[in-house]
Amino acid sequence: GNIKEDDLQHMEVLGSGNGGQVNRTIHKPTKSMMAVKIIKLDLTPTVQKQILLEMEILHKCNSASIIAFYGAFFTENRISICTEYMDGGSLDRYIPIPENVLSAMSAHIINGLIYMWNLKILHRDIKPSNILVNTAGQVKLCDFGVSTQLVKSIATTFVGTNVYMAPERIQGNQYGIPAEVWSLGVSLFEIVTGKLPFPSFRIDMTPFELMGCIIMESPMTLPPENFSANFVHFVNLCLQKDLRQRLAVAQLLSHPFTKLNENGNAQLVSEWLKQFLSERSSKS
Ligand code: ATP
Ligand code: MG
Repeated sequence: GNIKEDDLQHMEVLGSGNGGQVNRTIHKPTKSMMAVKIIKLDLTPTVQKQILLEMEILHKCNSASIIAFYGAFFTENRISICTEYMDGGSLDRYIPIPENVLSAMSAHIINGLIYMWNLKILHRDIKPSNILVNTAGQVKLCDFGVSTQLVKSIATTFVGTNVYMAPERIQGNQYGIPAEVWSLGVSLFEIVTGKLPFPSFRIDMTPFELMGCIIMESPMTLPPENFSANFVHFVNLCLQKDLRQRLAVAQLLSHPFTKLNENGNAQLVSEWLKQFLSERSSKS
């Protein structure tokens, strides 16, 4: 059935981002756990309906690498988006992650993207905070930009370039799968190094300087002494400025980095995460 506000009991806040806040929430009728993202948006009823309609497609997305969608609804000036809860949260919390652990996760990230691209859905916001893990060792993507209207409504309130955006997108050109492959490259680079692949990047850059940096600079290569040749090569081919040189979908799958890790390794991910969480809790 459809989820409604009265059925939900919000527990703690899991995190917040651009305009939204994510809660761990109990769905009382089924006693199941969810992650509910609440975003304040002042929209007309027509626009609200359009967003909910566009989000319906998420009910048809059924992949082990995509966060399950349970439903969405508006209450006054807020949208609540109910999805599967992941007890490890997002990858940005764990940076830097060892290459072998990221390799074990990579099949899920790549398969999740390809699954959605096959449904003609672009993610539009690939970055470490939109890749989630759980203690079962599963890795899933969240926050797909399936509703153009929702993406637009959020963008009018929170403008911006982010560091994961491809040069062609920043320049206002049409963008597609190649732009997603670029964002994947930036994310993988950051996940294993804790740094962004632009030589003169600084946190305190203005959006204009950031744009210049992404458009003008040649992205860095991962240091070959610290990472495997296959991984360095894969990330390099995601980070080609010329989008025709980037890995195409078939190449994402046939690259030795992907081939070597094509089944993922849930046990390795699970053990790494549990170890990380137990060390963290013993420190605090
Ligand atoms: P931005 O708003 O710029 O996209 P973000 O992705 O960090 O940044 P949110 O999407 O609002 O912001 O998510 C906030 C935080 O909530 C995430 O960083 C993540 O740690 C946590 N989170 C999101 N979805 C889930 C989920 N399904 N299960 C567990 N934790 C989640
Ligand atoms: Mg997010």
